[in-house]
Amino acid sequence: MRKGTSVFQRICLVHYHEIGLKGHNRSSFEMRLLKNVEAMLDAYSIVTVRRISGRICVFIKEGTGYETACEIADKLARIPGTARVSCGYKTERDIDEMGRAAACAMREAGEFASFKVAARRNHTDFAIDSMQMNQLIGSILCDAFPEKAVKMKDPDLKVCVEVVESSAYVYARSIRGVGGLPVGSSGRVMCLLSSGIDSPVSTWRMARRGAICIGVHFSGRPQTSSASEYLVDDIAQVLEQTGCIARVYVVPFGDYQREIAGSVPPGLRVIMYRRLMFKVAEALAAREKAGALVTGESLGQVASQTLENIAATDAAVSMPVFRPLIGTDKQEIIEQAQELGTFDISSEDAPDCCTLFMPRSPETHAKLSAVMEAESKLPIERWIAEIVESVEVRDYRCPAYKSPKDRTSRR
Ligand code: ATP
Ligand code: MG
Repeated sequence: MRKGTSVFQRICLVHYHEIGLKGHNRSSFEMRLLKNVEAMLDAYSIVTVRRISGRICVFIKEGTGYETACEIADKLARIPGTARVSCGYKTERDIDEMGRAAACAMREAGEFASFKVAARRNHTDFAIDSMQMNQLIGSILCDAFPEKAVKMKDPDLKVCVEVVESSAYVYARSIRGVGGLPVGSSGRVMCLLSSGIDSPVSTWRMARRGAICIGVHFSGRPQTSSASEYLVDDIAQVLEQTGCIARVYVVPFGDYQREIAGSVPPGLRVIMYRRLMFKVAEALAAREKAGALVTGESLGQVASQTLENIAATDAAVSMPVFRPLIGTDKQEIIEQAQELGTFDISSEDAPDCCTLFMPRSPETHAKLSAVMEAESKLPIERWIAEIVESVEVRDYRCPAYKSPKDRTSRR
């Protein structure tokens, strides 16, 4: 049969590991993943998405070619909760059909010299046991591929045949997924999202652990242009493709920095900006019922990321602050940003609040008492209330997210 056409129903099977370990929560995790998968694939010709025996099966519309099936598999592999994705076919519970479908799947699986069949049945109402299935289908494939070797240990290709309920599922090509948990299974977090390289990666890491991520971006506006806001929107659109961000609050922050710069000793300014950012993020987190703040900080990377300065900013809020990248090297962060597709956007230059009113030598070991003393002279509470009123909201597609009732959101 020619590559690209097939008489069998094409499928992609989504395998998940971690979800399977979650005991009685398992079915709600599976439902979450299924809903996320459904929503993320709506641009493709999918017939339906169903749970079948510890996997999620995507049934692809008749006539869809191999390339599109691979595109769907690549997309699935990037959705949090996906451990592995296989491309293959659904057939009747008939050994000859299974063998022919397995041959189709093998032809599409790329180069290989050796293979083996791995069959299983999830019910004994199918009379042929897995050993016999291996032999019968194996001999059909040996006839179809006489030049290929059968190898039980470490074959180049594993052809899987699974009999589940009234059908069989056959596949040979598998790709690795991002793993983790489906977004929406671990609560909500408020992610401080700059247009830099690090914070999109830290946001994505939390989404991969199942958190619904809500961004907050502090723009230098009106003291700078809104260029960083456009970059953050582009970054959010990348994260949105796999359901990894729900909304972004944009905060015009330039005037408050100017106020701080005018009245706080230069060395403490950066910490003061950051404490105010954290407090605003905490207020927005309360509105969103988010349980933690998230930043892209990495120990020692810049002046504000020393242990003392981290402690001085954490002390501004009472909720947990997560730093998924704290022990990650810049090069690793860059590689992950490249894989994610945010690196090129983050590499564009845009002034944001970080470039505004920066002192020549920021304090690297801030004393909390000095910080508190300087802060006590500022109308912080009034500012927070003002800022929270002035935020702008952009919504992105995250199937697990529901916005707080009192807000009308727009894109
Ligand atoms: P990034 O690449 O994420 O901007 P960075 O290495 O530039 O990080 P900093 O500028 O010190 O480091 O920022 C540390 C963290 O503080 C960021 O990862 C982000 O979580 C948060 N942050 C910094 N600037 C902003 C901003 N303008 N809006 C929202 N969050 C910010
Ligand atoms: Mg930055």
